[in-house]
Amino acid sequence: MNPYSLRSGLLALCVTAFALTGAAADKIRVIATIPDLADICRQVGGDLVNVESLATGAEDPHSIPMKPSFVSKLNRCDVLLHMGMDMEHAFLPGLLEAARNPRIQFGKPHCIDTSTGLKPLEIPASLDRSLGEVHPHGNPHYNLDPEGGRLIANNLCDGLCRCYPQHEAVFRAGRDGYLAKLDAKLAELGKLLAPLRGVKFVSYHNHFPYLAARVGLQSAGTIELRPGVEPTAKHIRDLIQRMKTDGVKLVIREPQFSEKTPKQIAAQTGARLITLPIMVGGVPEAKTYLDMLDFNVRTLVKAAQN
Ligand SMILES: [Zn+2]
Repeated sequence: MNPYSLRSGLLALCVTAFALTGAAADKIRVIATIPDLADICRQVGGDLVNVESLATGAEDPHSIPMKPSFVSKLNRCDVLLHMGMDMEHAFLPGLLEAARNPRIQFGKPHCIDTSTGLKPLEIPASLDRSLGEVHPHGNPHYNLDPEGGRLIANNLCDGLCRCYPQHEAVFRAGRDGYLAKLDAKLAELGKLLAPLRGVKFVSYHNHFPYLAARVGLQSAGTIELRPGVEPTAKHIRDLIQRMKTDGVKLVIREPQFSEKTPKQIAAQTGARLITLPIMVGGVPEAKTYLDMLDFNVRTLVKAAQN
């Protein structure tokens, strides 16, 4: 290669790199606490957004382990998406304080709470965080409700339109396109649900009341003593006894919890043990929100039929 073509080649590379950096810099930088919100935001925002999630999907969504990079990401971002209902209470307020980004503080338009308009299930009669209560305003795991995606997409879209009214048409078209895909998936899954009606289950954490209400499952308790509180030996013994009496044949383990106790409980009760992701990315099959809904419903149906 002669020096001139090498130089022009390098020049072309530099121009391409500059163009890419320029394009990325022009995008709205969005940070989502969990991958479900990131996935749906990419669908709604399309080419206008550059979205990253703090969680990978394998963590406990109440206590996502902090990384130093979270602070700089939040410091630089334009929009924050969070689940609300105080689900992120253990880590998000501290992160926001450290990030010193006035635009994305709670209550500001660029801090979008995707739970707006939710009819919460399981609102506690009283709140006592000293007991380790992590569901102070009711159950926050509405992302697992197949209809939760609609609430998230609508809230995302409304929030982005308020912040960037010049792009409203793009966001609304993105939202409408995504909801059409969600509707098609729900219609497909809706045909499979008959075997789930009345099936009793226990899970490790109380992740599934919205999903259960939607598909006809019945919760028979949790392995945790209360949301966020590890079980005692007595609690496990009582749970096993109750499962035997009530004929509970399904144990759901969430990926962030060890398999040991759920496996023991399933063995002692003759129940089937399955693992369901509680966020996008929780299992390799759940690459998108629609994939997660699909995986969860099909895994439940298979377990109920065997
Ligand atoms: Zn929870």
